This record gives sequence, structure tokens and C-alpha cells, in this order.
Amino acid sequence: DTSHGVILYLDGITVSFDGFKAINNLNLAIDRGELRSIIGPNGAGKTTMMDVITGKTRPTEGRAFFGQTIDLTRLNEAQIAHTGIGRKFQKPTVFEELTVFENLELAMKTDKGIWASLFFRLSGEARSTIEQKLELIRLKDHAHRPAGLLSHGQKQWLEIGMLLMQEPLLLLLDEPAAGMTDEETERSGELFLELAGDYTLVVVEHDMDFIKQISHGGRVTCLHEGSVLAEGSLEQVQNDERVIEVYLGR
Ligand code: ADP
Repeated sequence: DTSHGVILYLDGITVSFDGFKAINNLNLAIDRGELRSIIGPNGAGKTTMMDVITGKTRPTEGRAFFGQTIDLTRLNEAQIAHTGIGRKFQKPTVFEELTVFENLELAMKTDKGIWASLFFRLSGEARSTIEQKLELIRLKDHAHRPAGLLSHGQKQWLEIGMLLMQEPLLLLLDEPAAGMTDEETERSGELFLELAGDYTLVVVEHDMDFIKQISHGGRVTCLHEGSVLAEGSLEQVQNDERVIEVYLGR
């Protein structure tokens, strides 16, 4: 029985928009600490799947379990955010006028309220948490620069750092390598491999070189017409006839 390792379980999810099934009886199990890559053609249902997990879209049928007991389909978006699921959209949203350090400070879980937290002295523990995250997201040397001066890739890392300040269990990342330079893409891949294990990551991505870097023996899922078309190692999925036909062989 491997179910103890499962952190996210989608059980027969269907999402209909006026009768059109954007998600069609989707089953998916993600293990704790896994780095799962999700691929598939445009319209396959990748975004809608993320929307179901985060409560932005309510499924027509099926259940989504987080951990052993939490039924996400019974919670709203705000409640789900509190369960420890963090989502990063393609476009980075950081506070451009504030420094990198201040952005992380603001994102920190605090009972004082986020703006109030800026006017309090940080505890030594809080400061060292931020410094540790700065190192992880490769922005230690930029800590006191305004976030607006960062490159696109650096802003993406900062936003990931901000999500990490909330100590999430599961991170959902939507095309994290889009718009990055080759070097930034490679450093992102290294970052994701470092995060896996401590965190669970579900990454939707089109860049197959990036997928190759981050799958690193891990599992890849190819969606098509709202269901799982193939799942397994990158090699298995890449060599699947149906995947070649609908996605890779374009
Ligand atoms: P992907 O992210 O894999 O490109 P999406 O989840 O965005 O796919 O979309 C899956 C399908 O559902 C597409 O055919 C899309 O046009 C359709 N769809 C998505 N959202 C809506 C909506 N709000 N209303 C109607 N159709 C939608």
C-alpha cells in the first residue's frame, strides 16, 4: 500500500463548460516530495486541472483529495490557500518598488498583518529564514535591490521564494521556464530539483529541454482532451505512440 505517500489525489474529475468536457474523468495521484511534470497540447486541460486543485473551478464530477482526508472540492479558493497549496502563475507579481528582502518579508506568515510586519523589527529567526530562502532562490546578492530592477527570471525566482515563505506543502507552477534565458532556465531546473523532496511540485511546462532536466528519473504525465494520455518516466512518455501523435510529433 503506497497510499500513505500520496499528497494529492484526483478521483474521476470532470469539468464541463456548457456540456464541453475540459476535464474528462481525470485520475491523478501525486506522491509527497515528488516533482511531477505535466505536458500536453494546448487545450488538453492543464490549466483547468490547476484551477480545480486551487478551487478556482469547481468540478462537475469527482473529488480532489489533499493528504488523506481533505476534500478540496468542498473548499473555496481562500480556504484551499490555507491548506498549504501555493500556485505560481506565468506572470510574476512582485512588489516592484520594494527590495527583494522586503518582498520576502511581506510574504512571510505573520499574525501582525502583512503591511504592519514591515514596521516591526524582524526576529533573528525570521531574518535567518529569509536569508536561507534568498540563497535557495539565487538572489542573495540582490537582497537589497528593488525587485523592479530584477530580470524576468529573477522575478520568477523571487515569486517562488515568496510562496516558500508560506511554508507550502504543494507548489503548482504554470510554465515556469517561459520567457527565461537558457541560463535562467537551467538554474530554475536546479532550483526545482533542490526543492523536490522538501516540497511537492507539479509543473506544467512546454519546454521539453526543461522537462528533461527536471524529470531526472521522475514521472511525467501527458494530458489530452482532459484525461491522462500517458504517464511514466520521460522516456516512456516520449516514446508513447499516442503522445507522439497528439503532442511531440507536431
Ligand atoms: P491547457 O491549459 O492544457 O491549454 P485549458 O485547461 O486551458 O487547457 O483548456 C481546456 C479546454 O477547455 C480548452 O478547449 C478550452 O477552450 C476550454 N475551456 C477552458 N476554460 C473554459 C471556460 N471558462 N469556458 C469554456 N471553455 C473553457
